[in-house]
Parts: sequence; structure tokens; C-alpha cells
Amino acid sequence: MHLLSSPTIWFVCGSQHLYGPGPLKQVAANAREVAAGLAASKALPLEVTFKALLTTPDEIAQLCIDANSDPSCAGLILWMHTFSPSKMWIRGLTTLKKPFLHLHTQFNRDLPWSTIDMDFMNLNQAAHGDREAGFIHTRLRLGRKVVVGHWTDPEVHARIGAWMRAARAWHDTQGARLVRIGDNMRQVAVTDGDKVSAEMRFGYAVNTHGVGDVVARVNAVSDADVSSLCADYERAYKLAPALKKGGARHESVRDGARIELGLRAFLEEGGYKGFTTTFEDLHGLKQLPGLAPQRFMAEGFGFAGEGDWKTAWLVRAMKVMAAGLPGGTSFMEDYTYHLSPKGHQVLGAHMLEICPSIAAGKPSLEVHPLGIGGKEDPVRLVFDAATGPAINASLVDLGNRFRMIVNEVDTVVSPKLPKLPVARAVWECRPDFKTACGAWILSGGAHHTGYSTSVTTEMIEDFTTIAGIELVTIDAATRLSDLKQNLRNNEVYYHLAQGFRT
Ligand code: MN
Repeated sequence: MHLLSSPTIWFVCGSQHLYGPGPLKQVAANAREVAAGLAASKALPLEVTFKALLTTPDEIAQLCIDANSDPSCAGLILWMHTFSPSKMWIRGLTTLKKPFLHLHTQFNRDLPWSTIDMDFMNLNQAAHGDREAGFIHTRLRLGRKVVVGHWTDPEVHARIGAWMRAARAWHDTQGARLVRIGDNMRQVAVTDGDKVSAEMRFGYAVNTHGVGDVVARVNAVSDADVSSLCADYERAYKLAPALKKGGARHESVRDGARIELGLRAFLEEGGYKGFTTTFEDLHGLKQLPGLAPQRFMAEGFGFAGEGDWKTAWLVRAMKVMAAGLPGGTSFMEDYTYHLSPKGHQVLGAHMLEICPSIAAGKPSLEVHPLGIGGKEDPVRLVFDAATGPAINASLVDLGNRFRMIVNEVDTVVSPKLPKLPVARAVWECRPDFKTACGAWILSGGAHHTGYSTSVTTEMIEDFTTIAGIELVTIDAATRLSDLKQNLRNNEVYYHLAQGFRT
């Protein structure tokens, strides 16, 4: 995947010197075994390294400084095998900038009821040691994930795995660069927003280039490279004879390939992880880039149309969360509805740019008129999305904060759509169409989303916890009256919690 790194997660165990050197040695050995057990789990996408058994405030403070300054550390798992008085943790935790997960587990799974004595009791104290830790995390108002259960439990691994995916996306975001080719679509509100706030809150930078900077690279592409890429297209996709080499409309495909090669040169030169385009600023380009964003998304780039930099970044973050999982992730737009009394459905699509990672089969490469933008007919991949559970996620800028909105949906088999010249997904919303759309609109969710059959609500929730932003979840349990009250509560909470730092 494009510019994806594999950072590590530090496993850290807390204790104190009260127990003496013998038990502490045992604690360290047990903690190593727990860390090794987690490291061996296939559900965990990142390497887990046992880092330290911490027993003093100075050790704790130093470890937090080390974690902050190690670019390969994406987060920490904390566990209190015994009691670790948590005033010792204040100095370290108030400086810690990396995400952490609090694993509430115990070395022994079963209690040895017939032999249990005070030595056993003194060694296996997470039941109260982790409560002391939880208090100070709460007292310090630290966002973190708490995972409860034995460290060999597959459900525990799955929950840690989800958090690791969120931590990896957070790690990927720090210092990430996105580029907007052209500005926001004129007059559109939801795709606009405060890029300074976004960099403060999330750590990625987004800057604009005029489309002329891309055009210069497109014009520099050699004919031989265009021919070679067109041959790749013929191998990877279904093409009508007119579009193949020698066909009457092959020139349109060559134009698309030239745009892809020029855009790639521009994006690689800038080290960008995501980008936007806008059909209102295409001076010097023959077509609105369609095929190129589709193929770049499949490689892991974030993308959104119409200058929507927040969604472009969200698509990138979701692609990082999904790395290695089956399914796909794409830029998406709620396009039009099927409001039959037999069941309401959403037809999701975009003008062109849907990622083929969500395709059910081999995409077909086609050329059709666009209808807006006044350019030549653009080349694009057309396909049906794979069916199954999926999510739509949207990030909006409410002026004083960012809000993430997630709706869980079920993507179904698309009816035959012989005249629709774009990739599409047809889904049904949870808990039902009317509740979900009402909740989405009340929450201010955008028409643009990150759509994924790989990323789960849990990963997004963990990510918003790390980022310290609001999350609105619309799922099978959503009731509109509760949701409205939560939105009101959140207005107050985030206003107070963030103060002037927005
Ligand atoms: Mn759009």
C-alpha cells in the first residue's frame, strides 16, 4: 500500500517495589509472556514489543518521553499486573502524546481454588491494580480504550486489533501531506472547513496547487509510457473493442492514461497520501480525472472530489485501518434513493471516482459523456460493489469542533443498471432508512463519505477517541429521540472540554 509504514506497539506493565525482587521478577516474566501471546495473535496487525516493567515515577516519565520521541511507536498497551500506585503515573501520562490502550486482564485465567494462598493473591492483583490505573486515567481526562478479558481470549484480540488499526491510522496521519488540485466546489459548505483546525487536531497538512502544476506533468508524459499503461488497462479490465488499441475511441483511453501518469508524477514528487480534484478547475486537462483517482485509491491514496479534503483524508485513514483485511474502501456519495414501500434503498455512486477495491467482479473500462464540466468524455471503471455489511463515515467541521458520523449499512445485490455509466453500490441502512437518514441529516453528515466493507464502527470509535473528537453512531440500536438528546449533550461537552483550542 502507498506509503504505509508498520510501526510497533509497546507493551508496558506497571508495578511497584513493595513486593520485593522475587515477585517482581515473576511479574516481568509473566508480562513478557502476555506480550508474546498478543504478538503471536493473527488478529493483531502490528508488532507488539514488551517494553518495560515500570515501578517508579522516573521510569514511567522516561518511558513516556521515549514513546513520544520514537517515530516507530504507534501506541502503548498498559497493564497493571499488581498494584501500581497511580500518582506515580501522573507526570508520565500528562506528557504522553501517543495513544494508549488499557488492557484489563490477569495472568492466570482460572483461579486455583483449592491451593490459592496469599502469595497468589499478592501476585495477581490486576482486579484492583487496574482500577487504580483506571481512576488516574479518568482523573486526568485521558481518552483511551479499555479492553477487558483474559489475554488469550479471541474477543480480546479482536478488540485490541481494532484499536491497533485506529492507532496505525493515527500514526499514518501525523505529518501526512494531502494536496487539493484546485479549490473547493463553489458555494458548497460541507466540503469546506478549517484546515488549520484540522492540522491542529489530526496532524495532517493540506495545501492547494493550481491544476496547471499537474498539467505540466501530464504534458511531459511520453507516448511510449502511455502505450504501455494502455496495455496494462487491457490486461486488468474489460474493454469494448472501440476502446482497445486500434479502436475508434482508443484516443480517449490514451488521454486518461496520460492524465494518470502525469498525476502520479505530481503526487509522488510531493509525497502526498491523498488528493482532491474539482471539475470546476480543469484548465489544460482534456478530461476530469476519473480512472486515475480510481486506480490511485486502489493503491491506498485518499481521494475525494470537488475539493473535499476532509473526506480525502478520511478515505486514506480508513484505508490504513483496513490494511490487510478482506473487502474494500472507497470515496462514496449518497446519490439517489429507491423509496419503494417494499424497502427503501440508497444508490451510492459518484460522477466517476469510486475505488475498484469494493468491486464485486472485474471492472469494465468505459468512456461516456460526463454532462457537467464541459470537457471531453472521461474514461472510468464501471462495476457493482460487493455485497455485505459496510459503513459510511463522514467527518464534518462544526466550526468549534469536528464530528464523525458513522452509519452501518448492508450492501445488497444491485439490480441490472445497463444505462448507468458509473460504479455503484446499493445499500440498506440500519436501523432503517427513515431513522438512519433522519439521524444523518440531524447530525449534519455530508453527502460525501468514506465507504468500507473492511473498516468497522469499532475502529472508527477508537480513532475518534484517539483524536478526541465527537462520534455519532447510527446503527441497529439508534433511536432518534436519544440521538437528538446526545447531539445536544455533545454541544455542551465539547464546548467545555475543548475550550478555545479549536
Ligand atoms: Mn460529489
